[in-house]
Formats: sequence, C-alpha cells, structure tokens
Amino acid sequence: MQQSLNLPPARNLIGGAWHPAASGREMPMISPIDGQPFAAIAESGPEDVDGAIRAARAAFEGDWGHLTAAERGRLMLRLALRIEAEAESLAQLETRDNGKPIAQSRADMAALARYFEYYGGAADKLHGEVIPFLNGYDVTAMREPHGVTGHIIPWNYPVQIFGRSVGAALAMGNATVTKPAEDACLTILRLGELATEAGFPPGAINIVTGRGDVAGRALAEHPGVDFISFTGSPQVGQAIQIAAAKNYIPCTLELGGKSPQIVFEDADLEAAAPVIVSAIVQNGGQTCSAGSRVLIQRSIWQRLTAMLAERFRDTVARPSGEDAVLGPLISARQKARVERYIAEAKAPLIACGGIAVDAPATGFYVAPALFGPVDPQSPLAQEEVFGPVLAAIPFDTEAEAIAIANGTEYGLVAGIWTRDGDRQARVARTMRCGQVFINGYGAGGGIELPFGGVRKSGHGREKGFVALYEFSRLKTIVHRFA
Ligand code: NAD
Repeated sequence: MQQSLNLPPARNLIGGAWHPAASGREMPMISPIDGQPFAAIAESGPEDVDGAIRAARAAFEGDWGHLTAAERGRLMLRLALRIEAEAESLAQLETRDNGKPIAQSRADMAALARYFEYYGGAADKLHGEVIPFLNGYDVTAMREPHGVTGHIIPWNYPVQIFGRSVGAALAMGNATVTKPAEDACLTILRLGELATEAGFPPGAINIVTGRGDVAGRALAEHPGVDFISFTGSPQVGQAIQIAAAKNYIPCTLELGGKSPQIVFEDADLEAAAPVIVSAIVQNGGQTCSAGSRVLIQRSIWQRLTAMLAERFRDTVARPSGEDAVLGPLISARQKARVERYIAEAKAPLIACGGIAVDAPATGFYVAPALFGPVDPQSPLAQEEVFGPVLAAIPFDTEAEAIAIANGTEYGLVAGIWTRDGDRQARVARTMRCGQVFINGYGAGGGIELPFGGVRKSGHGREKGFVALYEFSRLKTIVHRFA
C-alpha cells in the first residue's frame, strides 16, 4: 500500500531543495482510517522557518521576482496540468493521510488544479489605474506584491486551501512559505515536488512542516514576513492577528463557523433535505462552512425532521473507499471532542447513523447525529463542533429566524430555502456573514466565489478575483512633468 502511495520525504522544501529539520527531528503521521502511523514528516523549528523565509526573500529579489506576470501565469498553468496528471495518486495519498472519502479527495484535487488554472490565468489581468489630478501630473496607482507571504493551513482541506491562498499569492508575484497542519500535510509536500518539476524557480514555493505552536508560531512572528494568510481556528487566528500587529503587517483570517440553513414552510423540502444532510456530513462535518444548524419553520417541523432523520439513519461512517460518504474524523482528539458534544447535548436525539462493521476499532469513526429541538443559546447551537452533528431549531416568524441565524459569534455562510422571491432577497440582505446561498448550499470548490467571514469567522476574502487584491498592495506614483 505504502509504495503505491508515492510518499513524499520527511523533509522541508526550502530554496528548491529538500532538507531535514535542522534538529533532525521527525513526527509520525497517523492515518485516521486505522489510527496507525504510516509516514513521517520533519518536525521543524524556528531555524528551519527562518531558512525558508530567507530563501523566499532571495527568490522574490531574484529569479522569481524578475519573471513577467505572463511567465508566472504560464508556470502556474503548467503546475495545474501536472496536478491533473497526478490527481489520482494525490487523491489516494490524501485519503490515507486525512481519512476523507476518496470521492472527496478527488474533488479536492480537481479544485486544486482549477485554482492554479484560475489564478494562473489571472496573473496578468489585474491592472492599475490612472487617476485624474492637477495639470502637469500623471498619477498611476499600481498593484504590487507584498513580498514574502506566509500561509498557515489546517488539515481539513489541505490542498484546496493551499490552492486558493498560495495560488493567489503566486499570481501576484509573492514568494511563499507554507506551514501545513501536522495532522495532514503529505499532499502539500507532494505538490512541492510537482512545482519543482513544473519549473518554479527555487524559493518561490517553500514548505516547512511541524507543530503549530513551534513552526507555525515562528512563521507568524517572523519579521521577515510581509503578509500572513491564516486558515484555522478562531483561537489561533487571534494569536496570528496579534503577531501580525506586532510586525505591522496585514493578514487574512479564515476561521470557523456555525452556519445556519433557514427552511421556510413554502420551501421545496425534497430538494432541501439531501442538501441539508450533505452540508453537515461532507468531510465528516470538518468543514468551516458546514451547515451545522438547520432552522425549521414550526409548521413543517415534523415533516422535515422526519425526512432528515431517515437520511441520518442511512449514513454510515466507514473506511474511506469508493462507496464512503462519511469517513473517519481526523484524529483521536477530534473524535473525543465530537463525542463529548454528543454526550453532553441537552436536546433530544432525533436520529443517528452508524459505523460500518469493517471500520477498524483503532480508527477515528463517529456516527452522525441529528438533535432537536435545540435551544439556540446552548453549546450545540453556539459552538463549532467540527463533526457530523446537526442542531435543528424551530422558529415561527421570519424575524425570529433572522435573529437566531445571526445570533452566534460566527458569520461565515448561510442558506435560505423558500420559493418567495421577496423573502429570498430580504433575508439574504440581513444575514451577517460572508456568503449566502438561496435554495442550495455549497458550490463545489467555489473557486470563483469570494469567500470569508465576519467577526469570529475572520476577515479578508479569499477565492475569486478579489483575493488578488488581498495578496497585493497599492502604490501611487505621482509624476510631475513640464
Ligand atoms: P488550528 O488553528 O488548530 O490549526 C491551523 C493551523 O495553524 C495548523 O497548521 C496549525 O499547525 C497552526 N497553528 C496551531 N497553533 C499555532 C500557533 N500558535 N501559531 C501559528 N500557527 C499555529 O485549526 P485546525 O484544527 O487545524 O482547523 C480547524 C479550524 O479551521 C476550524 O475552526 C475550521 O472552521 C477552520 N477552517 C476555516 C476555513 C475557512 O476558510 N474559513 C477553512 C478550513 C478550516
């Protein structure tokens, strides 16, 4: 099994070469499928991170920085083709490393290739402006890269988040240093190999593995970094923002969520029910934009909860093969956390799914659970569980639904299900979040769609063309002529 996986080395990619951690230390990688170690990564320290940042700076001031926008874009398109060619082996590696069903890993690889295609194509499309000013002046406002960008990435969608964040940064000409999550990062190391094969100059893409509170922290606090893109938990996001403030640099924070789907009595329930279930079961509920609350108008409560319950009962956590919809969770720690929420839930359990008999007892499987009616102020309705646990909450009026939907510290995504066009527009405008879906939820990779949160879900927008503004800054040049 291991040979066919094409495992990357337990090394860091720094300046185009593969280096072990300076300390020589390594960490085991545990597969969620059976809880067993199957690979190792470098356990890097601040000195490794410092080396990567120096290599990125040298690339930014050297070969990489001197490429034209069109040349950068061409390299990115070449990498997109390499990813497509290797998609199946990357997906197999991701599933072993991360535990996600193989269908999800394949979807992640398709999105990754698409990110490099999208941002590669966009590299030479962001123009500056000529600003009318006094007579005798030409004023231009041009976009320029920040310089060295740091990318701290979680384990739930490693390659999609690498694609959207590193892809946009490279398109604008930044040199990048990525610290992937210690729980799942092997596909990102393989990407480093593919980028080298595609011809990226040494130092444009650096990857340093290791613990968050050591290597991640060293990257966030390093004065040689000009911009930080962080995706992960609100707690660590806050520390990242403080570190960025100390260095007076900008950052984007893509954090957690407690996203609601509001179902009004006139909704198409046959269309809504499968989407509501898949929005919480996808990736084991370990999705920042998981639809973890469903708000149901009281007149359809019995009917819709019965439809959801049937689907929950049919959903079985299983080893992540061809037929898996729900795989294991990422780690023993995450499994224990989700099980605690289930055990401590005060609301009635409406339905739960199962765990397949062939799932190894040492793997991190949790059966999906539907609770309701859930008190909107209770932990199950307020806190991010990050597991396949759905909180159903009844409401009577539109105003009440809006208040409940907006009544958490988070604000990432919302879903609205109704046939009433006025209500669609009205409610969408009141949602305090970064993305709203009407009569649907989620959009595959959503590569073209700006994405990000408010308050505890973070700030800044990634994905789509607008991300190029985040990964560049404006310079105004005032030219007085005679
Ligand atoms: P996490 O915050 O524990 O870890 C994220 C990354 O930060 C990892 O690479 C980790 O090693 C690193 N890290 C940990 N401590 C650090 C520190 N002190 N300094 C610097 N880096 C540090 O999050 P996680 O458990 O890996 O991911 C789950 C969270 O990510 C959830 O809250 C989820 O909602 C969020 N998430 C958000 C989005 C989004 O786009 N909004 C996408 C995916 C995940």
